[in-house]
Amino acid sequence: MSLTERLQEVKTSIPEDVTLVAVSKTHPAEMIREAYDAGQRIFGENRPQELREKYPLLPPDIRWHMIGHLQTNKVKYIAPFVELIHSVDSDRLLAVIDREAARNDRTIDVLFEVHVAMEETKSGWAPEELRSYLAGGAWRTYGNVRIRGLMAVASQTDDDARIRAEFTAVHGLFREFREAYFGAGFDTLSMGMTHDYPIAVECGATMVRIGSRIFGERDYRK
Ligand SMILES: *Cc1c(COP(=O)(O)O)cnc(C)c1O
Repeated sequence: MSLTERLQEVKTSIPEDVTLVAVSKTHPAEMIREAYDAGQRIFGENRPQELREKYPLLPPDIRWHMIGHLQTNKVKYIAPFVELIHSVDSDRLLAVIDREAARNDRTIDVLFEVHVAMEETKSGWAPEELRSYLAGGAWRTYGNVRIRGLMAVASQTDDDARIRAEFTAVHGLFREFREAYFGAGFDTLSMGMTHDYPIAVECGATMVRIGSRIFGERDYRK
């Protein structure tokens, strides 16, 4: 099957009101171009330097999303053009995104990453931690970021019940915070990858991040 066919297959497998982020990390610009020519416009990358290098090689109407852990000193590489940062995991990072957005005369959309997976290596806020951060209100002082929702990565497991429980918990937080603080502009729930996106969609995801099912396996040795 060609990349274009795989992309079509993924698109028909998700509801129309769920946004597809094609995760192109590690793959070359030519492959992204092929997906672009097949109609895809939103692409996700997890390394700021890689994104900064790909950006000028590809059409300007691509909407680039940062989905990976972001160090504060790398925000400047992507602040001029990034559409949505999924992986805000600290107030410090949010403050830097706000500052770099202002420097570029922009407002940058962001999601808070929530940690619900079993693996300790994954980044993000523990639910309780995010709850008290939001209650504290520091986020209200940032004028150049727009907080649009939550992002989560589920545990790497074949236990569908476990994955479902994690996504359901994140959906509960999403509704709770929308009602308590943000209202209708808090409209993005980013969850679901190649192996678990059908479950994520059932649990209320509005955005899925799919890489290998579209682009094939990644080769990290390159
Ligand atoms: C790599 C990555 C994805 C896509 O993973 P696939 O399993 O290839 O679909 C989604 N989200 C995040 C945060 C990632 O790092």
